[in-house]
Amino acid sequence: MKYRSYSSHNFRQIPQIERLTEEQKFVIQVVGTVLPFRTSNYVIDELINWDNFEKDPFYILTFPQRDMLSPRQFDRVASLIKREAPRHEVKQVVDEIRMELNPNPAGQEHNVPEFEGERLPGIQHKYSQTMLFFPTQGQTCHAYCTFCFRWPQFGLSDFKFAMKDADLMVKYLKANPNITDVLFTGGDPMVMKTKIFETYFNAILDANVPHLRTIRIGTKALTYWPYRFITDEDADELMRLFEKVKSRGINIALMAHVNHPDELIPTAVKDAIKRLHTVGVQIRSQSPILKNINDNSTLWARKWKEEVKQGIVPYYMFVPRDTGAQDYFAVPLERTWKIFRWAYSHVSGICRTVKGPSMSCGAGKIQVLGVSEINGEKVFVLNFLQGRNQNWVGKPFFAEYNPDAIWISDLKPAFGKECFFYEDELFRIMN
Ligand SMILES: *Cc1c(COP(=O)(O)O)cnc(C)c1O
Ligand code: SF4
Repeated sequence: MKYRSYSSHNFRQIPQIERLTEEQKFVIQVVGTVLPFRTSNYVIDELINWDNFEKDPFYILTFPQRDMLSPRQFDRVASLIKREAPRHEVKQVVDEIRMELNPNPAGQEHNVPEFEGERLPGIQHKYSQTMLFFPTQGQTCHAYCTFCFRWPQFGLSDFKFAMKDADLMVKYLKANPNITDVLFTGGDPMVMKTKIFETYFNAILDANVPHLRTIRIGTKALTYWPYRFITDEDADELMRLFEKVKSRGINIALMAHVNHPDELIPTAVKDAIKRLHTVGVQIRSQSPILKNINDNSTLWARKWKEEVKQGIVPYYMFVPRDTGAQDYFAVPLERTWKIFRWAYSHVSGICRTVKGPSMSCGAGKIQVLGVSEINGEKVFVLNFLQGRNQNWVGKPFFAEYNPDAIWISDLKPAFGKECFFYEDELFRIMN
């Protein structure tokens, strides 16, 4: 299959788009002006069920929906487009709305390290053992997820965390013996040609970093463009490169972004998984829980079972971040926990490698352990899976019960306390 992508500019050329009313097409145009919109022939032909597209999870996952903006935001852009306002006017309004959508959640700028007096904008180092690396050439995706928290990277250049310099990355890695994992992320690094991976990986291998154990690659390509691993013209070289890294004693772990079990059904996906396993690549899966897509406990159980059947290790269930179209996808934390618990308890132990539900916020990855009652007070029990300070990990703490909470910012400490145990220290770290 040959890859084709569609955006706000050319989506009217998608053959199946004839099924939409003019009104529906206009909505795509309006929302797609604010939130990045990109879908592909693979998603369109292999994943979306066009007989029921309005409710189809993959349609909602890549096509802009009206309620992803507030009515006010929508009307502002719609009126500009209707009267064919000049570009700069549209841009100004769009920029304003984007700023309202919290384009840079979880204080990511605080994760960017300094090294020898210089900021390294292509690196984030928040958790001691794992360094994120944003290769410049990997800051786009085969298709854009409508819930994505990295969305500003596709549009607003000021917010880009990316870097070309493999040498600087390797220097930083060498200087930090705590780091065991380098996580290539984006966007989707698997949009990069094998040649570019080679440059980065060879720089890492040539540096002989004894503390490096695993190179991770965060990607959606496994289920949105499986041909990357089987039939793309440099797929064979990619496998040889992975083998080379493995032969040097370093693991390759693919952190596959899988939102829905039906992504795992196409033959090309199964073939890609088999091929990656043949060369010794580990595959783990992660996804947020999203209203209108996968807020369903049997679906999660089915997803984890299918993953394990194909040799993928379930890794994270996330709570969608406080950015972009968060409200459109938000599931209350209590319901999220119930979905997790039901699914977790209805799969065998080998599926229960999954962690979550987890909120990636400024302080760390906070797991919702559940709702409980202590001395007559109903509380959320929370736990750090990762902390900006690693000493915070694994100490359960409590928040007042709030049935509407969708994010950590909606929660207050329980038992009349002023703040959560980590907040003073977090404030010091962040200021
Ligand atoms: C999630 C995340 C990681 C990886 O965390 P793991 O629990 O090791 O998978 C690393 N850095 C940042 C900033 C993250 O948000
Ligand atoms: S694949 Fe990942 S980075 Fe790309 S749009 Fe989806 S969530 Fe965002």
